[in-house]
Amino acid sequence: MIKYRLRCDKDHSFDAWFRDSATYDKQADASLLACPACGSSAVSKALMAPNVSSSKKKDDSAPEQTVPAVSEVPQEMIELRQKLAALRTEVESNFDYVGKDFAEEARKIHYGEKDPHGIYGETTPTEAEALRDEGIGFGAIPWLPKSDA
Ligand SMILES: [Zn+2]
Repeated sequence: MIKYRLRCDKDHSFDAWFRDSATYDKQADASLLACPACGSSAVSKALMAPNVSSSKKKDDSAPEQTVPAVSEVPQEMIELRQKLAALRTEVESNFDYVGKDFAEEARKIHYGEKDPHGIYGETTPTEAEALRDEGIGFGAIPWLPKSDA
């Protein structure tokens, strides 16, 4: 683990822990770092200065503020988010959206009432169970809200 003193564009500084410097770089590149004081994602590493408490420069104008600690976003989560976002894009561009009629449409395709094509939509757990019982293959995928990407 490595601790960095970070600073946002509003000049708030705070400490954050990272697994290593590469982890910091990835999170910084993905704008996943946010200032706990103002929420700004324009965060960069503050210059590392030796912790000098000499009387050379007594800075009483700006006492360092304490802020809530920032927890590290695990790299696996970042990668998972990226995969889910890619999956969503893939499905949306290649499959037809059928909304709540998913079960009905899946049956029509399964029983040859409609030409086979990729569909996606919503279904209820009960309908999902019924589809499985009928041997209709489909997959449930976690749907990442777009606004959250
Ligand atoms: Zn800030």
